[in-house]
Amino acid sequence: MPSDPSQSINPLRLARSRERIEGSLQIDSFERLQGILLENEGELKYSLSFDFDESGTCVIECIIDTQLIFECQRCFKPVKVKIHSDSLLGVANDKDEFEALAKEYEPLQLLEETISAQELIEDELLLAIPISPLHAENECIAKNVLDEINADAKPQPFAALAALKKK
Ligand SMILES: [Zn+2]
Repeated sequence: MPSDPSQSINPLRLARSRERIEGSLQIDSFERLQGILLENEGELKYSLSFDFDESGTCVIECIIDTQLIFECQRCFKPVKVKIHSDSLLGVANDKDEFEALAKEYEPLQLLEETISAQELIEDELLLAIPISPLHAENECIAKNVLDEINADAKPQPFAALAALKKK
């Protein structure tokens, strides 16, 4: 079992012995996340389980849990977002295998015998992050400001009536 997840893993070999790899990675080790996050702190927990299903497809269950700090797209302040992703990857190396793949699997093409666990985890992480991270409505500064503006802008029917009567 590799202790360093950037190390190459061989999914077919691991599936034959039905192995599971667990561990944690620093958020700043994910190169493709840089620039997306406001802060690169924290870590990610992962679990990769390898097996073959009844049709002989090599299946990898990839579970990731982390908390990431984005910039809220409404108020531009930091917002912590919990990420949990549980996906089933099915190895498909050609068109036939790809078409035969069960619908619940995300296709994974093995260009080489071995892959980087870190890359695999990063792919799944990128799929799981929100497109537009926002605070919850009651926690967002911009939302409260907007509510105040809207409240002030509400027409006041009695004032309008009084103005009419004066005419
Ligand atoms: Zn906000």
